[in-house]
Amino acid sequence: MRVFLRTFQEYDIEEVAKHLLIMGDLSGDCASCRELGIDTYTAKNCPHCGTPFKYLTSRRLESQPGERFQFARRMREKRPDLIIIDYTDYSKTLGQKKARDFFG
Ligand SMILES: [Zn+2]
Repeated sequence: MRVFLRTFQEYDIEEVAKHLLIMGDLSGDCASCRELGIDTYTAKNCPHCGTPFKYLTSRRLESQPGERFQFARRMREKRPDLIIIDYTDYSKTLGQKKARDFFG
């Protein structure tokens, strides 16, 4: 039986933020320049800023486990070339970094 288990790995948050595609229900956003309406199934680069995508996330990964893993499976099938990261981990870490940059 093949299942998804989340693993822990160290990343540079700035590097992730620069190359992240955020998958929505119908289309995606570029985390780097905030361009909307990107075709998440086919886009290798952001059509606006040109950044190559390496990472993929979605707010849908915050759903209940059943739905979350179904969505993760679809992400994996559609984009085997991208590393799927957890949206909550990403957004919380980025929020902490922004707060540190602001107050530091
Ligand atoms: Zn962009």
